[in-house]
Amino acid sequence: MRDRTSICLCLAAESIEEDLRIAEEHRGRFDLLELRVDRLSAGEAGLAGRLPARVGSPVILTLRRTREGGKFGGSEQERHALLSKLAVSGFAYIDLEEDFDASDLEARVTGRGGRVIRSMHDFTGVPADLARRVTSLAHHPGEIPKAALLPKNAADLVRLLAAFTDLEGVEKILLGMGDTGFPTRVLAPRLGSFLCYTSAARAQAAPGQVDPLTLERTYNFRSITPRTQVYGVIGSPIMHSLSPLIHNRGFAAIGFDAVYLPFLVDDLDGFWPAADCLEIKGLSVTVPHKQAVISRLSGRDRLVESTGACNTLTRAQGKGPWQGTNTDVEGFLAPLRAALGGAIPRGVSATVIGAGGAARAVVHALKAAGARVLVLNRTAERGRELAEAFSVSHAGLDEPGFLQARDFGDLIVQTTSAGMSPNIAADPAPGLAFSGREIVYELLYAPPTTVFLQRALAAGCRVVRGRKMLVGQAMEQFRLFTGSIYPADLRAELEADMD
Ligand code: NAP
Repeated sequence: MRDRTSICLCLAAESIEEDLRIAEEHRGRFDLLELRVDRLSAGEAGLAGRLPARVGSPVILTLRRTREGGKFGGSEQERHALLSKLAVSGFAYIDLEEDFDASDLEARVTGRGGRVIRSMHDFTGVPADLARRVTSLAHHPGEIPKAALLPKNAADLVRLLAAFTDLEGVEKILLGMGDTGFPTRVLAPRLGSFLCYTSAARAQAAPGQVDPLTLERTYNFRSITPRTQVYGVIGSPIMHSLSPLIHNRGFAAIGFDAVYLPFLVDDLDGFWPAADCLEIKGLSVTVPHKQAVISRLSGRDRLVESTGACNTLTRAQGKGPWQGTNTDVEGFLAPLRAALGGAIPRGVSATVIGAGGAARAVVHALKAAGARVLVLNRTAERGRELAEAFSVSHAGLDEPGFLQARDFGDLIVQTTSAGMSPNIAADPAPGLAFSGREIVYELLYAPPTTVFLQRALAAGCRVVRGRKMLVGQAMEQFRLFTGSIYPADLRAELEADMD
């Protein structure tokens, strides 16, 4: 077995020349290439044999059928004929599906020192007997078994991680596609996968693949080893999160051997076995789980008690009970103090839109700072509960509510997820008019300027963007995860261009 996981750049353009351009653009960031012949246009496929000699790197030859997510729609005879022609062109590997038995073709590749990757694909989920199936994939000694699965939920992810454990020490390529499977791509060196597939942003070859630069810059991929600790953020949606970039940059700067990943989690209960399997010691928590995680805590601090929301989980051991805290409170207050010249004047009036986990931290912080607060929420009952918990006013997200908001207009805090990528057209309060005198603070940060914020800017309001809060709350999480202060120069970089 090699001592490090290779980065494979998939070439999935329609022409050989474009594939060569992509390889050149990413030169130095991959160890080997995969040529997806099925993605080439009809006229180009026959020319694929020219590529290995021109790229100067080992190349995997792949001609993927439509039923395995590829684009080759011809007959098996046609596929056999094309692969036979290309197999003598200097490819270092050939990817053959588990049911494609062509010993003449295999001999052509192995006779020239090449190897067979024997692959299975499953777009319906992760089979319970995955480890057994992977073990039985190889038709001959020397073949590398490969399974590419599409985990649909946390339970699928747990099954996939269990297969990695069962296959420890076995040479294999094992990966989860899509957003739920994404962590297994980045964790390939820790989990023991032969390679990690990447592709150029403009020619993505499979769901969940990132480009090699992102793999390196956002996830410090080359530094990941079997001993690297795992941290992450759980939520849904999650792939837009900037937290991996913030934490992984910090980890690298202080030499902390850890990687921070986005975990797409809809079914919270199903996720905990995955956290144990990966021995995760720290998690950020985001939409929609900030309240639900509380029932899981063995210890919670004053901030979780008073806000009723938890955005940070830590534990001393990778399998023990979780402690919870809430770093959103200070993360929210620091940029607000800065916008108000250093301190929040007592008696300042504020309208808080939304009544979810983030709103709880905001209302708690504003109340503690002596503000007069009105909560406006779409679901009246949830708004009322929050308002009663903190003894503040409440109304619906409707005309009477907007009218009442005129008396709470020094500060407008938009805490809902409406307008968040990918639903960027949404405005949570289209009927709320701005006078231009309000400070408008929006918590969501992707996109940086929502429809709501555009309206505030157009009215002449001063705005505070959610990315400032994101960085603020991440600093305390970083200290809890690592025991170290986030490097000041990196923090300054993250905060640049945010006004
Ligand atoms: P949450 O607990 O799921 O609450 C979501 C809130 O948004 C609820 O009040 C919900 O109203 C409301 N909402 C959702 N869609 C809406 C729509 N189309 N129209 C009106 N209201 C809508 O989520 P959360 O944890 O509070 O997070 C909310 C947002 O804050 C997210 O975008 C998150 O990324 C952001 N956030 C940012 C930071 C930061 O550091 N910048 C920190 C925390 C949170 P109902 O009660 O009626 O469902």
